[in-house]
Parts: sequence; C-alpha cells; structure tokens
Amino acid sequence: MIYLQMYSMVFGLCCGSFLNALIYRMPRQITIFSSRSRSQCTKCGNQLRWFDNIPLFSYIFLLGRCRNCKSFISFRYPLVELVIGCFAFIITPHNLSLERLGLYFFYLSSFSSLVAIFLIDLDFKIIPNELNLYLGMNFLLLVVFNKPYTHWLVGAMIGFLFPLAITYGFYLLKGQVGLGGGDIKLYGVLGLFLGPVGIIHNIFLSCFLGAIVGALLILFKVVKRKTPIPFGPFIVTIAVVQLYLPDVFSQVISYLMLG
Ligand SMILES: [Zn+2]
Repeated sequence: MIYLQMYSMVFGLCCGSFLNALIYRMPRQITIFSSRSRSQCTKCGNQLRWFDNIPLFSYIFLLGRCRNCKSFISFRYPLVELVIGCFAFIITPHNLSLERLGLYFFYLSSFSSLVAIFLIDLDFKIIPNELNLYLGMNFLLLVVFNKPYTHWLVGAMIGFLFPLAITYGFYLLKGQVGLGGGDIKLYGVLGLFLGPVGIIHNIFLSCFLGAIVGALLILFKVVKRKTPIPFGPFIVTIAVVQLYLPDVFSQVISYLMLG
C-alpha cells in the first residue's frame, strides 16, 4: 500500500504549496484564486514558470535561488511543503472506506489551517477571521454528529468566554490588552473539538508555554520586555498535540498532575 501513501504525500506537497501562497497573500490582501495572481519572486517580481513552481523539487533544483535575480528563496516554503507532505503520508488510511477518507481530509485540512494560523500570526501578529471560520466549520462538521452538544457547545463557550473575561479583567486592572481578538476566537473554535476539559487544558498549557518562551526571548534579548509576542503559535502547538497525538497528550497531562 506504499503507492497510496506516496500519492497521498504528493497531494500533501501540493496542499503545502497552496498553503504557502495563502500564508503569503492572505494577510497582504492579495487575491488567492485568480489567473492574474500567478506566483512570482517576492524580491524581483519575476513570474514563476510552471516548472519553477513544482513543490519541493523546484526549490532543490534551483538550489534555493530565484532563476531571474538569484536572490535566496526562504527555506520556509519547501519546509511547509515537506511538513504537510509528511503529515499526509503518515495519516494515509491503510484500507479505504468512505469514513476513513472523510477523516483523512478532516485531518489534512484542519492541520493545514493550524499551520497557516501559526505562521501568519508569527509574521503579522494577526489571525485572519477566515481561517478561524474555516477551522470552525471543519470541527463542526465532525462533532455535530458524533458528540453531544455538552461537548462542543460548552467547549466553544468556555474557550471563548474564559479568555475574554481574563483579558477584559486584565485590561481593567492594567489598561493593557493581553490577548488579541483572533486568539480568543481561536480558543472558542478549538473548544468545539476539544470540549470543556480539553480547551481548559489548552488555555492553561498554551499560557504556560507562552510564558516560558516569552521569558527566554527576553532573557536572551531576542525581544524587548514590552514587545508584544504573537500568541497564536502557542495555542496551535498545544492544539496540534491534542488533536493528532491524543495519547501523548494524556500522558503529559497525567505526568503534570502527578507532579
Ligand atoms: Zn527574483
């Protein structure tokens, strides 16, 4: 069945390539679906030919440089393609059924949205509403028929209202906005899938992770004390473990509980 996995990986590489375009264009308000918005070099504006646009292989063939101006192409582009490609390879079902195929697309599309949220927030300190909405639709399609509303509805409400209340309280006390609106919406969306307990785990662990990384960045003078740090990447990191490695996550939780 390795053929199926190889096909799946090629499909994943193409998804990664599309994701690169989306991550670049969405926060810059450039149309994603248009014949006129062909991929071009970000330095010289040279339009890429189809053979310069093949996921992973074009980057290797061009040795990471633009064919026209020879400037270096960010290593992140092939990395995103490779990550999505490997993810698709790993999640390929061993024998096909409609249900497994549906789950395959759910995993691939939710993971891709999380990667996009991670990188756009890192670059621009925003989480586009469209991505939160898309991820929410993904989750909703899966949970509405499989879980009671006490799981997804209560999870989403806790995910949205709890961070909102803390942020508002923090604002009243200190006059500073802690979490952005995009972060709060992301918590709400993740609550749909994770449920009440899962989303509380995510909120505490992402804040914990954010505090550690933030302290290290200040300690090593990567950022100044007052510089706001994008928070989406921490939420996404914890959520990825919860969503795709639930066994690892429950082991981490029981380890933390026992102390
Ligand atoms: Zn160029």
